[in-house]
Amino acid sequence: MISNKKILILGGAGFIGTALTKRLYKDNEIVIADKCNFEKSSLKLAGLSNEASIKKVVLDATDYESTINLGEDFDYIIHATAILGIHKVVEKSILTIDTNYTSCKYALELARRQKNLKKFLSFSTSEVYGRNIDMASEEKDMTVGQANEARWCYAASKILSEHLINAYNREHGVPTVIIRPFNVFGENRVGSNAMSAFLFRAMLNEPITVDGNGEQIRTWCHIEDFVSGLLNALESNTSGEVYNIGNPNNSISILDLAKLIKKITDSKSEINISGVYVPDVKNRTLSIEKAKRDLGYEPSIGLEDGIEKMYLWAKKLDEDRIRELYE
Ligand code: UDP
Repeated sequence: MISNKKILILGGAGFIGTALTKRLYKDNEIVIADKCNFEKSSLKLAGLSNEASIKKVVLDATDYESTINLGEDFDYIIHATAILGIHKVVEKSILTIDTNYTSCKYALELARRQKNLKKFLSFSTSEVYGRNIDMASEEKDMTVGQANEARWCYAASKILSEHLINAYNREHGVPTVIIRPFNVFGENRVGSNAMSAFLFRAMLNEPITVDGNGEQIRTWCHIEDFVSGLLNALESNTSGEVYNIGNPNNSISILDLAKLIKKITDSKSEINISGVYVPDVKNRTLSIEKAKRDLGYEPSIGLEDGIEKMYLWAKKLDEDRIRELYE
């Protein structure tokens, strides 16, 4: 267990940073640096925004001076700053590319100035495996779609960042680890994604829209399993490595996911299949053999159980809040 450490989470008020903070704040000093409105953040939703051991700093992670001035006495630095979500990425591609790459570069500059850094952890994406991947393994080449399909700018920003992280590891000895998350879901998630959209719409008995033909496959990982993987990665002795973190047991087509959520919530929502083609990932499943071997990572929460947990949490929110979360 990580204890009595000083931990910086850049972009830490979001879904993943909040879940990580929840597991660490009682035994450690946490600094969350984020540009977001903390009042509307996952951190606030989780009831953690006023905890004494969590220091909140409003920071633009693309500002070099402010990032560098965060201090030199962190034991762990987690870089979670990113623009993500298909709609935002497509509408704000310049911002996406710039924020994702620049924040990573400055986080690494900060990391290399630390006196006693144990690990620099940064989030890449499962999108680096391209538009159709079965049993994605870290040994496979990264691949990216054409630049005239805007969605791929997100993967491109992460591919470049992965190269930069490895360069800092080789040239400056920064102890790095890169995580490629596979469709993480669960309590306190804000922002657009299929799981939240389907669950919230089902709860409101509003139509659920399934993009394309609904046959696209995703593999879902509950946030608690995911955070266990992150903690293992932070504590491990490995350096300069990349790991897939997800749950290979939870693969499902998007149409079947919509049906499953409808069943769990006993919803009256109609499911509409849009039939409209958008550049998308057709199939994405993964191997976690490397994380199992090196980190002892072993996810255990099944898809239905994970959705039940998220549903239990969402039931405590009032209707206005639910609307705010998915719109
Ligand atoms: N999707 C959908 N309806 C929605 C939201 C998403 O059909 O309301 C689809 C989306 O087009 C994609 C899949 O669900 O094929 C997963 O989308 P998400 O944004 O959750 O993750 P990603 O595409 O990044 O894996």
